[in-house]
Amino acid sequence: MTGVNGTLEALPPKLLTLGGDPDTVMAEYLDVIGRTISNHPRSLQKRIGPSEVGQACARRLGYKLLGHAERDQRPNWKATIGTATHSWLEDAFQAENARWLRTGGVERWVTETRVTVGATKTLGKITGSCDLYDRVTGTVLDHKVVGPAQLKHYRADGPSEQYHVQAHLYGRGLHLLGLPVETVGICFLPRNGELRDAFLWHEPWEEQIALQGLDRLEGIAAACNMLDDQALAMLPTADVWCINCPFYKAGSTDPAQGCPGHDMPKAADPAPLNFISNNK
Ligand code: SF4
Repeated sequence: MTGVNGTLEALPPKLLTLGGDPDTVMAEYLDVIGRTISNHPRSLQKRIGPSEVGQACARRLGYKLLGHAERDQRPNWKATIGTATHSWLEDAFQAENARWLRTGGVERWVTETRVTVGATKTLGKITGSCDLYDRVTGTVLDHKVVGPAQLKHYRADGPSEQYHVQAHLYGRGLHLLGLPVETVGICFLPRNGELRDAFLWHEPWEEQIALQGLDRLEGIAAACNMLDDQALAMLPTADVWCINCPFYKAGSTDPAQGCPGHDMPKAADPAPLNFISNNK
């Protein structure tokens, strides 16, 4: 990046194409971003984490548990904005901790804590990283960076079941670390709005909600273990943006090759497996 003296120097002439086509620079620029997104640990994660336990579509979980390859998708830029915002927030709350230390001798906020939220017989420990914990109030917080339509929807109807279960699982993770947990919350932050549009959903922590989510996951995992790909047709589906699902395959008649989407029953479809419900 810099020359031998630590100063910024022009590249050697053999590496230069000064005046090169800006569109080529743009293509390379986007390629760097796309490859970085694709290689981010979150994109490569193979294990089920707390954010997926409450996934409403059991079949989608089944595909992941069975190790099915995800179809090629465009780099998820919106999720990357969310990831970058998480890093910024971690820095912000760490800086606030430094102020607490200076003024009161303690740190208030616990950021990005590795937690084990529980275990299932088939999958073993389920671990993840809890965004934020407030030691003063015993509040566990999750950041979600969302678009305007989602923000409106969550404000009106509360979080999805997937987010709901995730919040209580993180509550359990902190509880298992020996910390007092009173409240779990999700801070919905606008991806394209002002901070004043942010919305906090919260409710008292209930361990039972976390345990029900883990029970349901174990049911799905055990079915996949026992039946392999044959379990897929029996796993209940849900309307969760199938078009963005990494296992979606339009018109598929063989679940082992891909899922045609929710609400596409066939006369010969087997009855869905009935797991412990995690619906509110
Ligand atoms: S395409 Fe839809 S129904 Fe099928 S696994 Fe994915 S989310 Fe579930």
